[in-house]
Amino acid sequence: MIDSHCHIDEEAYEQDRDEMLQRQKDGGIEAIVIPGVNARSIDGIFAICRRWRGFCYPVLGLHPQDVADDWQEQLRILHEAMLGHTGDDPDIGERIVAIGEIGLDYHYTRDYDEAQHEAFRTQLRWAQELDLPVIIHSRDATADCLSIVREAIVNPSIINRPLRGVIHCFSGSAEVAQEWLKMGMYLGIGGVLTFKNSRLAENLAHVPPERILLETDGPYLAPTPHRGERNEPLLMQFVVMRLAEIYNCTPEEVIEVTSANSRNLFRLPTF
Ligand SMILES: [Zn+2]
Repeated sequence: MIDSHCHIDEEAYEQDRDEMLQRQKDGGIEAIVIPGVNARSIDGIFAICRRWRGFCYPVLGLHPQDVADDWQEQLRILHEAMLGHTGDDPDIGERIVAIGEIGLDYHYTRDYDEAQHEAFRTQLRWAQELDLPVIIHSRDATADCLSIVREAIVNPSIINRPLRGVIHCFSGSAEVAQEWLKMGMYLGIGGVLTFKNSRLAENLAHVPPERILLETDGPYLAPTPHRGERNEPLLMQFVVMRLAEIYNCTPEEVIEVTSANSRNLFRLPTF
């Protein structure tokens, strides 16, 4: 299994991070992608990925919830770090495998809508310029998120590259799922799939497994029967079992397809 989205750098893992990561590796996790949320997360993420080279992979970006008065300064710092960790120079150390998590979040405040849009558009353009995929966070903002991504695809930046990416923690309708698939996006699926009141399983009926990435969003959103606990990549086995039921296949087949999807999107080395 590959965890395409786990906040390993967060406080919740501080006490036992190395031990926890070793347990994931021993248990069969192949790789973990660590998304960034702001400029302050840069050093912590690179430190973990340096220590766990070939297992943890870094991603940088400004999360919409972290768009506040200083967003332009945060973007400047993040862009500099992105430029320093991409390209062919063998001495650059850790290479980022995506830009994220970026997007729109109207859940807590609407005070920064304009800034969120601008930060999102800017980072989508950087992804196209740097030929990196994006990890998209969309909460209570589906219509605007679809239209900003569509605009980036129809009207790509100076460099005419397609936009590749994943809709992290997808929980929308069947119709919205199809809109994302039409744009070539993957859907990130995690613990929510196992929640009792979730309609996600039926909404995935017409989403082929070839478009799904496994994720935890750890430390959050642990699947049933561990709901409410700290999430860890190995708990994705409960999501895998549910996907196997939905697709009427074996858990091994779910793992094989979703791991290939993550490797393909993030261009991870084959193991
Ligand atoms: Zn996240």
